[in-house]
Amino acid sequence: MTAVETESSEVVPASLQGGYLAKQCPEAVQLDVLRPVDPLPTSQFRMMLAAAGNAFERTVFAELLSSVSGAVEVDRTREPNCREALTTEAMRAGAQLVIGGRLPVDAVGHRVGEPDLLVRAGDEPKVNGRWAYVPVDVKHHIVRDTPELPGNPAESLGVAPWVETGGAAASEFARWTYGDLVQLAHYQRLLEACGHEISEGRWGGIIGVGQQLAWYDLDAPCWAPSEYLEERPAGPLSTMESYDAAFAHRLTVIDAALRQRRDPAVPLLAEPILVPACAECGWRVWCYPRLEEAGDLSLLPGVDMRKRRLHQERRVTDLHGLAGLDDRTARLVAAGVQLADLIERAAAVEPRTSIGEVIPRRHRQIATLAREGVRNVDDLKGLSGQTLRYENSGIGDLPGQIDRARARLGPEPAYRRRGVDRLGVPRADIEIDIDMENVEQGTYLWGVLFTERRPSGPPAVEYLPFVSWDPETSTGELDAFERFWEWLRGQRAAAAASDRLLRAYCYSKSAENSQMRRIAGRLGLEEEVKAFLASEQWVDLYAVFRDQLVTGTTMGLKTVAQLAGFRWRSEDAGGGQAMVRYAEAVSDPNVTIRVEARRWLLEYNEDDVRATVALREWLDVDARPLPSVETLGNATAT
Ligand code: SF4
Repeated sequence: MTAVETESSEVVPASLQGGYLAKQCPEAVQLDVLRPVDPLPTSQFRMMLAAAGNAFERTVFAELLSSVSGAVEVDRTREPNCREALTTEAMRAGAQLVIGGRLPVDAVGHRVGEPDLLVRAGDEPKVNGRWAYVPVDVKHHIVRDTPELPGNPAESLGVAPWVETGGAAASEFARWTYGDLVQLAHYQRLLEACGHEISEGRWGGIIGVGQQLAWYDLDAPCWAPSEYLEERPAGPLSTMESYDAAFAHRLTVIDAALRQRRDPAVPLLAEPILVPACAECGWRVWCYPRLEEAGDLSLLPGVDMRKRRLHQERRVTDLHGLAGLDDRTARLVAAGVQLADLIERAAAVEPRTSIGEVIPRRHRQIATLAREGVRNVDDLKGLSGQTLRYENSGIGDLPGQIDRARARLGPEPAYRRRGVDRLGVPRADIEIDIDMENVEQGTYLWGVLFTERRPSGPPAVEYLPFVSWDPETSTGELDAFERFWEWLRGQRAAAAASDRLLRAYCYSKSAENSQMRRIAGRLGLEEEVKAFLASEQWVDLYAVFRDQLVTGTTMGLKTVAQLAGFRWRSEDAGGGQAMVRYAEAVSDPNVTIRVEARRWLLEYNEDDVRATVALREWLDVDARPLPSVETLGNATAT
């Protein structure tokens, strides 16, 4: 039988699929079958997350095994058939809790699955003589938005969910993570196939960080239909409904791919579409060049799968098609002018009739049309019928999407936005570029590039890292921030005393702002920090860039700094790699690895602040001659 290698590296027959399938990108499912190239290896960051997840799972398992009487653990190192037999035996015997089990294969449903926990429901078997179970998974992330003390899963597991909640809803404050829940739905179907499902509804649980347990009603309608489905059912869908549709869809994708391998004439059912998961997907080595080659609409920031579909329904299938839409008609559509109705009314009058006579009560629309040069019925001829199809489409900012598509296809790396005549960047005598590095437990580094501009000669430049390598990050962050803040306070006071202008810069301030506010709260500095963040001294270069330029690409610092010719010294510089390095920097037993990780982190942080300096200089000098996006018209369309 043909086999497919899954993300977990387990090789399963193509006809049997695990719970991961339903949440996987259909193109990845297809490529797992076709394997046109080797996928990229799993990143160090993903491996670190997986290792942390496994360690957390082992901790929870050990705690449950020692605290739940009648718990049975299935040895996960045994062969799949053996684990399946041990799980079946435990369920037949009515074990209170089955840890690390493997449910019987559901050949009819093409399912195989290994729920972390199976929790027995009730004190006696069902009428079919079998004990009922609910699936529970262990996930190393937050599952409840509540500042509860660490939970006791053993205690919670003893309470059936429909008892705890009165059968009405899931746990209070539970976070509903789609990927977690479709996995539970998969196990639910497997339990139904072997007759061990509960009789009252369909439920599942997730034990997350802090050992919090959240229960979920898998029949509660809460999900929008997936954009991957060609025939989308009316929503909202329950987790079970959404899972069933997704699982069945992925099976058809696999089936088509298997048949296409035998007969190349068989059409494939999936295609690459840029989604957030692509950034960490090994198949991006295959998909990215194809997305670029096709000029796929998903490449455009702000065009998600829903908007991509809305464009395709209007026969705009790539970036060239989008760039070719009429921006004037798009602005009228976006402004809410009822163009279809106007055109219908205008058909009955003379071409020289003024718009005001056709729709006399719509004063705002008349003014909007006049601003775009549409004053009489004859002017309506200049509007684009294709762009008119977007009226009431829910596509959002269509003029912005057209401009971004044109900018992406245009010869310049960036263009001035409409209405921006001249680029402007706030500058100062003393410029301080700031970037922080943090992990879930706290912020360990505030890096600063201090630049003192002088009337003549080159500026004085110095990199200053305010860092703590204390493994207790939540303690160390106070020390690092205190030193940073004291230094910044001193610089601001000195600048004020010498009557020099000081500005501090960051790129995309929301992360820095929230960390500063949070730590300031712990140190009693709330008011001082709040005043600084609200002052004109604090400049977000991302907003400066975004409000004046359009590129048609993402606006992350790594992308836009390249416009200024800036390169990071480390090729693998990035947030994920920084987390891996931080773990090494504070807790690796090998001192050489610790020292090297600290050096890497400081270099990475220094490059980040040097990148914002380079971007500011570029915006202030080299970017000034960039043309306006208005000059592109629809010339970028084919
Ligand atoms: S790179 Fe993106 S489109 Fe391609 S398989 Fe991965 S997730 Fe799917």
